[in-house]
Amino acid sequence: MTVSEKVSYLKGLVEGLDLDKDDKTVKVINAIIDTLDEVAECVSELELDVADISDQVDAVDEDLAEVEDYLFEYDEDDDEDDLYEIKCPECGNTIVADLDMIDNDEIKCPECGASFQLDIEEIEE
Ligand SMILES: [Zn+2]
Repeated sequence: MTVSEKVSYLKGLVEGLDLDKDDKTVKVINAIIDTLDEVAECVSELELDVADISDQVDAVDEDLAEVEDYLFEYDEDDDEDDLYEIKCPECGNTIVADLDMIDNDEIKCPECGASFQLDIEEIEE
């Protein structure tokens, strides 16, 4: 039973008592029931609003997930573009470097500490 149905049921019960409408106590009871009726109507409207908002939040959540997927894929591609594998001419260590590690076409090998010039055209291939 919804709140509205319960209030309707209560209204029916009170009407069935066939009370004297001019009696002060009966006036109070009727005022309480009228108030409950309005509260029940508000609750019904709020339930509909919440259902609407919930649907909208679900839609936004789905859209956001798509945006996150797009950004995540974009970042991955971006990282791949910026990473280079460079072989150290001193020790033969393979250095995985991004552009931040390359300074003035020069890179320092983390393995042996040797700095060497890069052939930028070669690594961009
Ligand atoms: Zn090295």
